[in-house]
Amino acid sequence: MSVKPEAMIQSKLPNVGTTIFTTMSQLAAQSGAINLSQGFPDFDGPQALREAVGRHVMAGHNQYAPMTGLPALREQVAAKIARSYGRQVDMDSEVTITPGATEAIFCAVQALVRPGDEVIVLDPCYDSYEPSVELAGGRCVHVPLALPDFSIDWQRLADAVGPRTRLIMLNSPHNPSGALISRAELDQLAALIRGFDIYLIADEVYEHLVYDGVCHASVLAHEELYARAYVVSSFGKTYHVTGWKTGYVVAPPLLSAELRKAHQFVTFCGITPLQWALADYMAAYPEHVDELPAFYQAKRDLFCDRLAESRFTFTRAAGTYFQLADYSAIRPDLDDVAMAEWLTREHGVACIPISVFYQQPPADLRLVRFCFAKREETLRQAADRLYGV
Ligand code: PMP
Ligand code: GLN
Repeated sequence: MSVKPEAMIQSKLPNVGTTIFTTMSQLAAQSGAINLSQGFPDFDGPQALREAVGRHVMAGHNQYAPMTGLPALREQVAAKIARSYGRQVDMDSEVTITPGATEAIFCAVQALVRPGDEVIVLDPCYDSYEPSVELAGGRCVHVPLALPDFSIDWQRLADAVGPRTRLIMLNSPHNPSGALISRAELDQLAALIRGFDIYLIADEVYEHLVYDGVCHASVLAHEELYARAYVVSSFGKTYHVTGWKTGYVVAPPLLSAELRKAHQFVTFCGITPLQWALADYMAAYPEHVDELPAFYQAKRDLFCDRLAESRFTFTRAAGTYFQLADYSAIRPDLDDVAMAEWLTREHGVACIPISVFYQQPPADLRLVRFCFAKREETLRQAADRLYGV
């Protein structure tokens, strides 16, 4: 046959290439740079958690978990939600364990979005949202967040809502900006979509990474919004084990039932010994989540205190483990992709350009993202290098 295989495939995702996280992590490795690009800790999760995995593997917990997730883990998730947000969710009909938040988001989109539907995303937005929507036959309507604080532009959001709007994607704490959506903004959103047949996916994977004494305003704590929402989280972020790709999604029973129809044919279930280990650890150390803000705020401040002496300018991240920095005073001639490459190759610190999270980036955007989920010595060394730029 003379036709090349690639010529026969009409891609359903023609605009998708290699993600910026893979690209920058590879460039960091090639350049021998400190990798503050892709978001993952350079330290391990708790020892007791890691040991529990070995124990459960040896105890023979190696076959399929239930499709909805191990009951012991769903019970812990429900208990944590009650403690953190005051909501009693039913672990059987409202909590689903998934192999990563990414799969939860994908399945929630498949459950809701039909061909021709519109999904509102707030730019800059996480890279998995749009391909998930496109594979479901939907179309993303991009509404930029307002600069400089990445807050919701209510006028533009209201203008984007229409008869085809099926879903709005929220992300708080927000990757890449670190911005938070407040309770008052959730109320405003509820008022905006009241009376419309619009659903929400609330991507709250950084729910426990919120600083300066502020409380995360979860959709789980919002009666009216939760009634039409999928709330997604990730054990990877909360327990410093991103490679475990284990997350969960909480939604009212009818929404959960629809999501599970997709989930059971995407992966069927999450990884059994990891779920056992997480259930044990959450039961033994419920305080882990309460200690996270101080743990990461110390890292943020260590990095930022030194960066403040450099020519980068910034406002400290309110949440997530990402710090944005403006480099206008250093290389205004470079766009952010070129700047990220230059910093990686020439100064040995890899970061993420944020224009890639936009459909149409603002022309004068001069911001890059640094991940501060790193050991103190890594942060000190990176900040020293950035001070010299
Ligand atoms: N949403 C956001 C905003 C993220 O930053 C990430 C990062 N990994 C995910 C979802 C995916 O989480 P997971 O690794 O659990 O699939
Ligand atoms: N969420 C991570 C980040 O924002 C990346 C995850 C991935 O590489 N897919 O850096």
